[in-house]
Amino acid sequence: MTDTLETTAASVPQERRVVTAIPGPKSQAIHERRLKVVPPGVTAALPVYIERAHGAILVDVDGNQFIDLGAGIGVTTIGHTDDAVVAAVQEQVAELTHTLFTITPYEGYVRVAELLAEHTPGDFEKRSVLVNSGAEAVENGVKIARKYTGRNGVAVLDHAYHGRTNLTMAMNFKAAPYATGYGPLAGDVYRAPSSYPFHDGLSGAEAAKRTISYLEKTVGAADLACLVVEPIQGEGGFMVPADGYLPALQEWCTANGVVMIADEIQAGMARTGAYFAAEHFGWVPDLVLSAKGIAGGLPLAAVTGRAEIMDASQPGGLGGTFGGNPVSCAAAIAVFDQIESNGLLAEGKRIESVLTAGLTELQSKYPVIGDVRGIGAMIAIELVQPGTHEPNAAAVTSIAAFAAQKGVLLLTAGTYGNVLRFLPSLAISDELLADALGVIDEAFAAL
Ligand SMILES: *Cc1c(COP(=O)(O)O)cnc(C)c1O
Repeated sequence: MTDTLETTAASVPQERRVVTAIPGPKSQAIHERRLKVVPPGVTAALPVYIERAHGAILVDVDGNQFIDLGAGIGVTTIGHTDDAVVAAVQEQVAELTHTLFTITPYEGYVRVAELLAEHTPGDFEKRSVLVNSGAEAVENGVKIARKYTGRNGVAVLDHAYHGRTNLTMAMNFKAAPYATGYGPLAGDVYRAPSSYPFHDGLSGAEAAKRTISYLEKTVGAADLACLVVEPIQGEGGFMVPADGYLPALQEWCTANGVVMIADEIQAGMARTGAYFAAEHFGWVPDLVLSAKGIAGGLPLAAVTGRAEIMDASQPGGLGGTFGGNPVSCAAAIAVFDQIESNGLLAEGKRIESVLTAGLTELQSKYPVIGDVRGIGAMIAIELVQPGTHEPNAAAVTSIAAFAAQKGVLLLTAGTYGNVLRFLPSLAISDELLADALGVIDEAFAAL
């Protein structure tokens, strides 16, 4: 076991290295096979096929090494093949891989629920149900809120992203590509204006007033089971809401018997320098959804929240065959332990200061960068037509393509496709960040 660990870490030096065209010949060969057996609905942002990874570096089958600024969309938050996670998984997989928690339970699930109760915002009794994916957590959060309130309505915000299942498709802001042609969509979903300071210029109080009055007029609190909100919107483009916005919505929800749900699937689990991003805003949600970063790359997701809300569901109403798989639970326990024992919350703050400083400097050189925003290891730049707030998706595409050719994996985002998001693992060094920023500087210069 130790051998395997040493080999992975040693065989992936933390440096960028481009040794073939991107994608290289071996990647191209696999890609051709893929096109015959995988439908185009499943895309590949960068068709280099990855063989192994460690820390913040991906190694493809041609031997190219990429600085990973995406972490599998915020999944390998504490770094690829983190030694402690690998060890925990190896040990667990040899001991027990499945019983089904609702048949014959095991301790790992209980331990993950304890850790979530301890680290999610709010000082009250909590319960957690474990599932397999973010969308499944969203679906369960809505079910739990409906059962508790006896109401049907689901409120979401403009620019939201919540998944690709039937209910969550209806909750996304963007129909294309997520929902186009996949109807009928779930009903009783209502979308309200959000807080998007770069575009709306509203204070938190003003934006909250607009959201609330919209919900009161178009649905009415009496018919709303829940309001589901990402504390920092992910796919929408890393919008950090104005101060006071989220607590004002929570206050309105509490006063009106609406369950407010934090979709922390992208922003949560130590990514922003806090366990959960809601903390930055003084927001204590009723329910918290976690997934992506929770288990170091293994599939796991959770709904965690107030005991009285969670306990309203009847026995048998919640669960699923693979939910809270023992191996995923072992990985999640190791992730929590690494965050705590290695002080990883501080790493989020370190990455924020390096990225924000570097990107702000680029903004002063390149007027195409309209906004630099985000918290912790969740930073974005919004590209515009210089001098305006009009989206510039073409520039985003060029920058990401240029960076990929140089060995930097940079993800795009934004309702209008005009956002570059920096979502590295907390294991990324200042040197790798500086190297990546240098490449991005070159990319802007070449625009
Ligand atoms: C990724 C994501 C989801 C969906 O998670 P899946 O695991 O892909 O189903 C939901 N909400 C947010 C905020 C996300 O970023």
